[in-house]
Parts: sequence; C-alpha cells; structure tokens
Amino acid sequence: MNKLLLVLSVLFSVSAYAQNISQEKVVTILNDLASDEMKGREIGTPENDSAATYIAKRFAESNLAFCTGSSYLVPFEYTGRTVYNVCGLKKGKSDKNLAFSAHFDHIGSNGNSGDNVFNGADDNASGVTAVIGIADYFKDIKPDFSMMFMAFNGEEKGMKGSKAIAEATDLQPLFSKTAALFNFEMLATVSQFGNNALYMTGDEFSDLDELINANSKDGLKINADPYTGQNLFYRSDNVVFARKNIVAHSFSTVDMRVATHYHQLNDDIGVVNFDNLTLLINSLGNTIQQLKPGNFAPRYNEKVNLK
Ligand SMILES: [Zn+2]
Repeated sequence: MNKLLLVLSVLFSVSAYAQNISQEKVVTILNDLASDEMKGREIGTPENDSAATYIAKRFAESNLAFCTGSSYLVPFEYTGRTVYNVCGLKKGKSDKNLAFSAHFDHIGSNGNSGDNVFNGADDNASGVTAVIGIADYFKDIKPDFSMMFMAFNGEEKGMKGSKAIAEATDLQPLFSKTAALFNFEMLATVSQFGNNALYMTGDEFSDLDELINANSKDGLKINADPYTGQNLFYRSDNVVFARKNIVAHSFSTVDMRVATHYHQLNDDIGVVNFDNLTLLINSLGNTIQQLKPGNFAPRYNEKVNLK
C-alpha cells in the first residue's frame, strides 16, 4: 500500500468508528445543567429556557437535524407561557427509529438564604447528559436505525412536556416509526447491581431488556426493576409513549431505598459518580450501535396496562 492510500484508509477507518465521549465532557455538560445559574430549571422560568437552549446547542454540536420546523426547540403552552421541549434527529440507514429521552426540568429554588437552589444533578441533569452523550457518540457514524433525541420539560409538574410533544402533529410520522423509547431518569449513582448496570422499569411488560442484553457490549447490564411496589413504569415520561403503543421504558440507577437526595438541596454535583456515568453512556452507545431493524423489534406482552 502506498503512503497516500495508507493515510486515506486510516482516516476512513477513524471516521467510520464511533467516538467515545470523554469523562471531561460528561463532567462539563452535567455541571452546566446543574449549575446554580440554572436555578433548578423550573418550568416557566427564564433559566428553564436557558437549559433548553443549552441542550439545543449540544444537539447542534452532534450534527443532529431538527425534528420539526427550523429549530430543536419545540414550543408548547404552559400556564399562558410558551415553554420548550427539545428534539433532534439522527438519520440512519432505516427510517425506523429509536428514541432517547430525559426530562430536563427540575423543581427550582426556595426563597431561603444560603444554598437555596435545587440543582437536580441526579434528577435529571444526569439523564439529559446521557441523551446528549449518546448523540455525541454517534456524531460521526450512520447507525442502522434513525435516532430521535428528546429533552422533556415539565415532568415535575405532571409530565407536561412529554404529553405535549407526544401529541405534536408534525412529529406523528416519526413516532409511527419508533421501535422503542429509552427514557433516562437519575443515572448519577452506582446502582445496587454495581457499575455499568441499569434497571428498567416495567421490565415484566416487554422483552426490551432481554433484547438489549442479548446485544450488550462492554459489559452493560440491564436489570429487572427491583422496586416494583413503586410502579415506576407508570410514573415517568415513558408511560406517555407507552400509551401510544410505543415500547417505552425508563432506565435508572437510583436506589429508591437509600436516595436521601431525591428532591433535596443536596442533589448536586457531589452525588454524581462520573466514572460510572461515562462508562454507562459509552457502553450504551456501543450496544445501541449493534441494534438493527432485523434483530431488534421489542414487543409488549399482555401484562402491561395501557389504558
Ligand atoms: Zn424529580
């Protein structure tokens, strides 16, 4: 092989492979979202708008297309104000898509003196960081499935954002081709199953977890929901899409028995295990890269209640 050919083939092989997201970038994104300047990202505040704009900027860096219109920001009305979900699209070899989502709003701040910002580093800057990180992972590759990336607003006020975007007329052609939706909720801590492990809510309702584990790379493990008494499947944004007959589950690491930071002021950057979060994002990226319409068609069974 002559030198030019060698250089070209090296360049080509580099561009054809996925790029793992660096831990440094994971730290930056999560810190930005959970900063005091974001004031807890409560829906209807200017800082919530800033968070949406920030996520849109990150989607642009991953060269995502707009899901609709001429912006990643998808507006809806909330108590007389225009607020935003964020949506970006990666075109794959098939127009069948996989959707990745996380809510980006949190519960704001209280009026007390001292530390009064609910930073929501785990709930749910961590989930949004995973969505951005997976988009970044696929920046230079063309996956088999197309991919939708969504950041939902207003989850804390009753899943307002996911309900709005699920009904957006322009997006129905995309949702009609969604093979599965992966919703990320609270990924900042190491799960009771150890490193590089998630649990899936409502695991008994579909074969999604089995299909992911069958294609798992880099040691990623999806576990059954250990907190079935809490009905988490029906309490998070995934259920809005489940009711559209899309196989949609939430994925988390949070240990519900010991999560004393849940909706507390100390849900800040100090609770985040960045080694594990970076590992999870990259092993999810590599695993998702294995999924093709031919080997991945998850289905619900009769146990799920979608009424
Ligand atoms: Zn919350």
